[in-house]
Amino acid sequence: MKFGGTSVADAGAFRNVAAIVKAAETGRPIVVTSAIAGFTNALLASVDAAVNGDAAAGAQSLNEWFDRHAAIAYELLGRPARQSIEAAILEARTEVGRLLKIIGGYPVTRPPLQDEIVAVGELLSSQLLAAVLRENDLPARYVDARECIKTNEDYGSATPLPETNATAAEKLQPAIEGGEIPVLGGFIASTSKGITTTLGRGGSDYTAAIVGAALDAREIQIWTDVSGVLTADPRVVPEGQTIPVLSYQEAAELAYFGAKVLHPKTIQPAIDKSIPVRVCNSHAPTDAGTLIVAESESAPLTIKAIAHKNGVTTVQVTSARMLGAYGFLRALFEVFDRHRTAVDVVTTSEVSVSLTIDDKIALPELIPDLEKLGSVEVEEDRTIICVVGEGLRNTPGIAARVFSVIHDINVSMISVGASSVNLTFMVDEAQATDAINRLHKVCFESSVSNASDSTELKCSQEEPLAAA
Ligand code: ADP
Ligand code: ASP
Ligand code: MG
Repeated sequence: MKFGGTSVADAGAFRNVAAIVKAAETGRPIVVTSAIAGFTNALLASVDAAVNGDAAAGAQSLNEWFDRHAAIAYELLGRPARQSIEAAILEARTEVGRLLKIIGGYPVTRPPLQDEIVAVGELLSSQLLAAVLRENDLPARYVDARECIKTNEDYGSATPLPETNATAAEKLQPAIEGGEIPVLGGFIASTSKGITTTLGRGGSDYTAAIVGAALDAREIQIWTDVSGVLTADPRVVPEGQTIPVLSYQEAAELAYFGAKVLHPKTIQPAIDKSIPVRVCNSHAPTDAGTLIVAESESAPLTIKAIAHKNGVTTVQVTSARMLGAYGFLRALFEVFDRHRTAVDVVTTSEVSVSLTIDDKIALPELIPDLEKLGSVEVEEDRTIICVVGEGLRNTPGIAARVFSVIHDINVSMISVGASSVNLTFMVDEAQATDAINRLHKVCFESSVSNASDSTELKCSQEEPLAAA
């Protein structure tokens, strides 16, 4: 059971989590928590301040956050438990101050020390949550996630090592067998030498999936602030509806292309062990959520959801040398490889290749290397829109329907058929909201198109599912 930042934002939210875990107690749950909402951003901002020469201001800016943890402890814990959390908060505050000074003096130390600092968010929330659960008569035991999840040294976005399955099981299984509820921070991990790493922003979902897979859990539950995966991002389409069932592949495509509700890496561990993933609303635990399983039925009009990703950059490389030549694409992708830049969508013609990238930090060095291969055009502030639905590749008329709805909006880089469940294209960021809302209206808001399955799926179960 993974609880996101807004599920542990304040004392009321912690209380609420305790009630949800209590209802699941007989299912032998493992609890994973994010940092309290906003704290990770604040920790990262303090590192920026240190790098910009003001470590003291960085440390100062975190005071209100440490105080917030203390206030939650004050409201929810009895004296002895409170004192031990207060000691942990004090230790974290001192340690973060010390690390910020080092980063300020030696900015090259930033990657590992930033992870060490950011980890404080999950270290404190998980200790606090374990204490709150104990206060509510639950047999919770705090476990340091860094001893469970082992990764490589890619600070900021580390990759778990194969031995993680064994280390996580070894750490967590005895507690579960002893009737305890392990509580660990998501997102944080460590290298085999014990140096703290993190799994990338939003990575607590991934932690839950890794732990669920390592322990052959019956279900991986992602408790968040919306009632499941919705037909579109609710910040763009307020009319978004809960999708009752998604296939792994549909969920993965939605997550890759911007549905923030699931970290994109969450699905793979679930697929490896065929474990269902359920997305539930911690603010409305009896609402129907979304169940993600190996197979799901097609929606009546095939399209199940629309995901989108803003702030995308497209790069087009044109060269007559590409015509009938081999080795060109290899050379092109090697440039992206060399500059450690991930490519999301690719379309090609005989003489040109268009690609999209999310992270443009390496662009100034990338472009001169690409210019050795051909002429290069870059466009920023683009949005990828991704229409997802099982059966999309083999259903006639989908593309016609999608593009006729947005016939007056300029569309580029159409990609369909690479996966059987998605149709992806680019629009200008300024037109994205309009395009997504029009598509949503046609796909989900007319009476014929209601994509709901008849199955009612409740998040809070009579007999909750958890580690088997
Ligand atoms: P948590 O802190 O629980 O991990 P996140 O903020 O990471 O929560 O993810 C939940 C948010 O994802 C929602 O509040 C919503 O704004 C956003 N979101 C984007 N696309 C979707 C979608 N298709 N379905 C549900 N939520 C979405
Ligand atoms: N706290 C981390 C973040 O904000 C991880 C997570 O919430 O999943 O990115
Ligand atoms: Mg998240």
